[in-house]
Amino acid sequence: MEALNPHSVLVTGSNRGIGLELVKQLARKSNPPEWIFATCRDPEGPHAQDLKNLAAKYKEIVIIPLNITDPSSIRSAVTMVTEKLSGTGLNLLINNAGISKFSAKLEFEAPEDMAEVYKTNVIGPMMISQAFLPLLRKASEESSEKGMSCSKASIVNMSSHAGSITDVYLWELAQVASYRCSKTRPRNHKGTTKNQGSPKSNVAALNMLTRCQSLAFSEVEILCVAVHPGWVQTTMGGSMAEITVDSSVQAILNLLAHLSEKDSGAFLNWEGKILPW
Ligand code: NDP
Repeated sequence: MEALNPHSVLVTGSNRGIGLELVKQLARKSNPPEWIFATCRDPEGPHAQDLKNLAAKYKEIVIIPLNITDPSSIRSAVTMVTEKLSGTGLNLLINNAGISKFSAKLEFEAPEDMAEVYKTNVIGPMMISQAFLPLLRKASEESSEKGMSCSKASIVNMSSHAGSITDVYLWELAQVASYRCSKTRPRNHKGTTKNQGSPKSNVAALNMLTRCQSLAFSEVEILCVAVHPGWVQTTMGGSMAEITVDSSVQAILNLLAHLSEKDSGAFLNWEGKILPW
């Protein structure tokens, strides 16, 4: 049976919400990773207390300061992680940190918000993946496992169904164009045009980045996927959200355990279903 057994995992934005729960459930596994790098942009700030309490209980958790939009912060984080890993690679990178700027109506969407959301949700994961690529490559090269898996070497981008051009998920609730554009979906992972929506779906953002990563890093057997976690009860998801953070993360970890090379470049929901364009 497939299992999720990475030696090392790094989660961005892990001081609250889905990121914190990912770290919690990874640490509570019967066979936890040896290293869980729980990164957050302000470990000394008021929103990091839950993570600090958790790290005090589990020796596997190492808190690393990391602002995903700041190149010097990224460089320092890579140095700290490399030191801890002392010669081994990084198996699983979860680009979880993200923001959403609320705008009820597209006519009021601010260009500054559009730029900030793009910078955090797209450029951030791109820079993080580039910076940790040498460690991911090392993990892949040094593994005796055949094919691809999230235990061997993988980049998981936390995306959103809100970016689906076909579904325009929850439009009636919030138009949030800046967020939708940042997460917009590319062609499907098989590279075909079946079920494709607007031709605009050939370009753009986090999901297209995932598809590009899957192509660029297939040679070194790094599995790359975009995952929609569900509409989750977090600060971002709000209290009306459909699923708890606990059930979302349980399902995501179960999903990651079952992914292989056939899934690289895909956009899946927390239950493993391929979503429409
Ligand atoms: P939250 O708003 O609860 O948490 C967001 C996390 O991202 C926080 O830890 C925050 O840190 C961090 N973050 C934001 N910007 C940066 C940055 N520049 N550098 C480092 N960390 C940063 O969101 P969720 O937990 O709900 O969402 C996690 C991911 O899942 C996001 O990518 C989101 O788009 C995606 N998602 C969530 C859905 C939901 O319903 N909740 C639905 C679909 C997708 P800080 O405390 O410092 O602000």
